[in-house]
Amino acid sequence: MTITAAKFVKGFVDPKEVEKETLPQYAFIGRSNVGKSSLINTLTKQKGLAKTSSFPGRTQQINLFLINNKFHLVDLPGYGFARVSAGGRDTIFELIRGYLFGNNTCIQKVVLIIDGVVGPTRDDLDMLEALEHSGKNIVIAVNKIDKIKKSDYKKQLEKIQGLVGAHILMPISAEKKIGIGELGNIVFEK
Ligand code: GDP
Repeated sequence: MTITAAKFVKGFVDPKEVEKETLPQYAFIGRSNVGKSSLINTLTKQKGLAKTSSFPGRTQQINLFLINNKFHLVDLPGYGFARVSAGGRDTIFELIRGYLFGNNTCIQKVVLIIDGVVGPTRDDLDMLEALEHSGKNIVIAVNKIDKIKKSDYKKQLEKIQGLVGAHILMPISAEKKIGIGELGNIVFEK
């Protein structure tokens, strides 16, 4: 599927409000700095669409983007950011939890982005388990593969696969634009 149009619709601070939306939703989630904004910008071919971490404004909201006038790409706040106070972290988790595990019936897929160099963190694995428990369709995007040494690549991917279990792994580089078309096809297929 080719993305031909993408625009920012609205940022939500209340997950219940998102439940009023009726178009199919494809949610993107990951730890702060994993490259989620870069991925959304690369996928939609719009450089400034999702704000990268250096723009704190929209990052603690649930941001909806309208894609091809047909569905919503949902940019969830990054979790586990050390610079946010403990209270701030709780608020972010509540927002994410409220969205993913509330009564939203429009969520088609959840793309969990992990760092290919770091591998899945405790927070990532907790998130994955919660997604599995709630029966979500999950795609795991392994980002920043351009940073993995060629000689370590196979071993690293196998290690990640072992940690996440039987899920589709999509190795990508948001920055170097590797595997982006393949990821788009898997995520947005009908
Ligand atoms: P977010 O917090 O998840 O939205 O992450 P950002 O998109 O802001 O990216 C965080 C940092 O990782 C930035 O410095 C990006 O340039 C960098 N980054 C993102 N994707 C990649 C990638 O595929 N490869 C490399 N090497 N760096 C990346």
